[in-house]
Amino acid sequence: MTLEIKFTHSYRFGYLWQSICPECYKTVAESREEADLKQYEDTHVCFSLNTRLVRIA
Ligand SMILES: [Zn+2]
Repeated sequence: MTLEIKFTHSYRFGYLWQSICPECYKTVAESREEADLKQYEDTHVCFSLNTRLVRIA
C-alpha cells in the first residue's frame, strides 16, 4: 500500500526552502534550491502518528 504525501514547501528567512512532511510533521529537507528538496522527499521513510509505514507514491 502506498500513499502519496504532499510535502509542504515553505520559503524561510529569505533564502532557505524547507519541506515539511504533513504526516509526521518532520522537516525532511532544507535547501537553498527548491528543486533539491525532492531527492530527500523521495527517500523519506515516514512513521506517521498512526505508525503506518508510508511510502512515497
Ligand atoms: Zn513523514
